[in-house]
Amino acid sequence: MPQYDYDLFVIGAGSGGVRSARVAAQLGKRVGVAEESRPGGTCVVRGCVPKKFLVYGADYGAAIKDAKGFGWNVKDATFSWPVLRDAVQAEVTRLSGVYSNILDKNGADLFRERAEFVDKHTVRLTTSGREITAETILVAVGGRPWAPNLKGAEYAITSDDAFTLETLPERALIIGGGYIASEFAGIFAGLGVETIQAYRGPSLLKGFDDDVRAQVDVIQKNNGIELKFNVSPTEIKKTTGGLIVSFDDGSKIGTDLVFMATGRNPHTAGLGLEKAGVKTDKSGAVIVDEYSQSSVKNIYAVGDVTNRVNLTPVAIREGIAFVETRFKDNPTAYDHSDIASAVFTRPPVGVVGLSETQAREAYGDNITVYATSFKPMKNVLAGKDQKCFMKLITEGKKERVIGIHLVGDDSAEIIQALGICVKAGLTKADFDRTCAVHPTLAEEIVTLTART
Ligand code: NDP
Repeated sequence: MPQYDYDLFVIGAGSGGVRSARVAAQLGKRVGVAEESRPGGTCVVRGCVPKKFLVYGADYGAAIKDAKGFGWNVKDATFSWPVLRDAVQAEVTRLSGVYSNILDKNGADLFRERAEFVDKHTVRLTTSGREITAETILVAVGGRPWAPNLKGAEYAITSDDAFTLETLPERALIIGGGYIASEFAGIFAGLGVETIQAYRGPSLLKGFDDDVRAQVDVIQKNNGIELKFNVSPTEIKKTTGGLIVSFDDGSKIGTDLVFMATGRNPHTAGLGLEKAGVKTDKSGAVIVDEYSQSSVKNIYAVGDVTNRVNLTPVAIREGIAFVETRFKDNPTAYDHSDIASAVFTRPPVGVVGLSETQAREAYGDNITVYATSFKPMKNVLAGKDQKCFMKLITEGKKERVIGIHLVGDDSAEIIQALGICVKAGLTKADFDRTCAVHPTLAEEIVTLTART
């Protein structure tokens, strides 16, 4: 008789949890998974996937307008939020089913209940009360939106609510200057909502390259978004005419919807980690080593709950590395450097490696910066002023490429390939001897000249 019910029990059926469970089950391990919501986690249910569909939806609206410059006369184009919302939700439901089938097909048991720790080898399923033991437990519970507790906060929504709105508001106020705020401002504005984005800093996307930030500020304005900088909300009041939001500079904004996109926190409250002796940091994140092992030997954690790099593909890689380490006797630390990523503003941002500021901090004056900004062909006939921007940063005499920053159509697609180049340690000379693909936006990356 085995000592435990399972070799591995995973709490959370999101990207990191499901991948870990599947790979471990394929190795013949006895695997159980608990999920309190729908399988698929944030990415599939209330994040990346439905968000990208909404971005596509918003882009169609812009494309209809742009088409005029290409000879198309599109009459009476109207938009229906319920049609888009319901189509997206139907796809989310299908994908969530795919996630639970993956577990089923590979022989992992899925419990559709919340699980909490009883001790370091035991969890309790909170609906049925059933207790389950496992030799190894993986915490993959992700994160949850966090919002400041200001007066009237109950009138605001977060990204969890945004995908299933009953009706699209006429006016929306989005608080925050990060990924979610900037992406949703672009979505709402593109779907015809009068959108204001209010941020406590002087320019959006803190932590990104300064030139990218400046470009994104312009993108938002070009999309009709009103930007309000250097303000934080202090109170939300409900009136018969809508919501009134007060700010710390004394100003007020009237709106129909307040969307708090003020960050996310690890979802560990009430999980009972202390009963198992698992240490967390002050944000609630499970503290792990490079092998995703917590302070308790048989308990591991991957994904947003560890608050390392909070991206779906990273959680998946951490999960694969965890299985290698724990079940294949092959200690594997996932390398978190040079992860390419995108922000789906409209157009999007694509980034890999260091910003110019980070590069200067790391290499002083021993860096070279190449940059260009130009109007893409498509925007010429569309009659749009929106330019695209590219920046490449190298270090040392050999000019190893250490950072690439793109703002413009298809940046998210292009940066995936450029991420390979940076990860491979390629030099500017390697880029220069690569022939351009013409006419494309991406060809500019192999013809860049140094910024003077
Ligand atoms: P971010 O950390 O990106 O942004 C949070 C924003 O809220 C920041 O602008 C922050 O300001 C602001 N803020 C924080 N506290 C307050 C406050 N008390 N009052 C006013 N403003 C406040 O978080 P998101 O929720 O947008 O995204 C969470 C994570 O999810 C991202 O970091 C990313 O890892 C991931 N994600 C990735 C996406 C992608 O890959 N495309 C898309 C969406 C999310 P300040 O900048 O000054 O700190």
